[in-house]
Amino acid sequence: MTATLEPTATSDAPTPTFDSLDPATGDLVGTHPVTSRAEVDAAVARARAAADWWGNLGFGERAEYLLTWRSVITRRIAQLAHLSHRETGKPHGDAQLEIVLAIDHIAWAAKHAKKVLGPQKVRSGLLMANQAATVQYQALGVVGVIGPWNYPVFTPMGSIAYALAAGNTVVFKPSEYTPGVGQWLADTFREVVHGRDVLQVVTGLGETGNALCTAAVDKLAFTGSGATGKKVMAACAENLTPVIIEAGGKDSLIVDEDADLEKAAEAALWGGMSNAGQTCIGTERVYVHEKVFDAFMGEILDQAKGLRAGSDAGAQIGPITMPSQLKIIQSHIDDAIAKGANVALGGSDAVGERFVQPTILTHVPEDSTEITQETFGPTLAINPVRSMDEAVELTNATAYGLAGAVFSKSQGMDIARRIRSGMTSVNSVIAFAGVPTLPFGGVGQSGFGRIHGPDGLKEFTYAKAITRQKFKPVMMLTTFARDAKTDDRVAQLITVLHGGKKTLK
Ligand code: NAD
Repeated sequence: MTATLEPTATSDAPTPTFDSLDPATGDLVGTHPVTSRAEVDAAVARARAAADWWGNLGFGERAEYLLTWRSVITRRIAQLAHLSHRETGKPHGDAQLEIVLAIDHIAWAAKHAKKVLGPQKVRSGLLMANQAATVQYQALGVVGVIGPWNYPVFTPMGSIAYALAAGNTVVFKPSEYTPGVGQWLADTFREVVHGRDVLQVVTGLGETGNALCTAAVDKLAFTGSGATGKKVMAACAENLTPVIIEAGGKDSLIVDEDADLEKAAEAALWGGMSNAGQTCIGTERVYVHEKVFDAFMGEILDQAKGLRAGSDAGAQIGPITMPSQLKIIQSHIDDAIAKGANVALGGSDAVGERFVQPTILTHVPEDSTEITQETFGPTLAINPVRSMDEAVELTNATAYGLAGAVFSKSQGMDIARRIRSGMTSVNSVIAFAGVPTLPFGGVGQSGFGRIHGPDGLKEFTYAKAITRQKFKPVMMLTTFARDAKTDDRVAQLITVLHGGKKTLK
């Protein structure tokens, strides 16, 4: 277990605490307070007070602070990667990679907030030609962020950095499996802003998360499972608190007959197995054109040689961070095999006490849980398809809609557009996550709302529209003194403007 799920109180420590454990060894990594409802409310109140200062800084000054924080994280990247490695079990290199991406996002959000959110003049139209029209995007106030453990830096940062850059203060509830990483992020930010409560952490279990949902926050950004997402929405509904839900997925990678099979196999293997398959935008299904199916299988099995899970330096796959997931992974593999899937690598015995060895199944029935539910383990279901139409149809035959990938030389973009998901990479995998200008989020059971890019900045604001009268209108419309003559002229004007049968060319 990486976290004792029952809070413990002792006479020495009146505040209940919980432990964060190394999933590879079971060693204690740290002990953290279970933040109570009253303490969450107090943190939100402090955040509200700090929002006055932070929100009233200009975009430029906020960017300075955020860029300083970015530099601090960069200089101490080894320290943070080590902590993430210990709490999640992921290899050092993988821990570093997600921090690298997060750093790039902080810099982008800091540098672009003014341009995206600052006042912009817009056209006022003929009817209101005497008005100057302006729109600007204003900070909401206090944003609550609830994060998962699988990418404990990159994932919550998509909300934290963008919310801060937009002028909000943040109260962050990290996963109970990675509280140390969350605390590290808040501590370093506090150093940068000289002790102010701009980014605070409240550690704890689900109860603490629920307290944040019902606290006086102005928006709640949740990343985690769909099941918890529904509870978060229900709790937020009490106060009409708006939510962003970044939930799970069942992404596919499509391989066309003209694809570069070596690259497609490399991408499928990494997309499915890296981070032990515990990636929301990881590859779980692969649909391969039947004409190249055998060649693709030969390639991926060849590349998978030597790939294994373990805690030694030679292992490229770490442990399963959340022990309860082992049962789910086992059940999906077993269900697929029972329904007739072929085992190409690994199989039922691949699931151990802490680690799962890479498993590749083929000809997996579409009604098995290995295809229909998020497995969140190092498994791939690879099925042949007769055409790209069938590949798209099967890809879209899921309640999820998070991301995906397509390998095709001639019709990659066309196939990508037909996939019902928030993000698709053509001839690579997961590339969109590293492009700060692109929005990140899903549809259907994968959630709604967007982090990253201009959409991600706007997500943590409200649009403020202002009109300023420049000169007296030719026709005064908003007055009880309006006469019948004016009404006639309005009717004539609108007929001239919109009464024709013109169609768009
Ligand atoms: P989870 O739903 O178990 O927990 C997520 C967070 O919610 C944790 O901090 C947890 O303490 C908190 N929580 C639990 N109960 C709560 C409640 N009643 N009210 C409020 N908060 C509560 O998810 P997890 O196991 O930490 O993460 C894995 C899941 O996250 C997977 O489904 C994965 O696909 C998804 N995920 C999605 C994205 C994305 O961007 N779409 C990114 C990473 C992970």
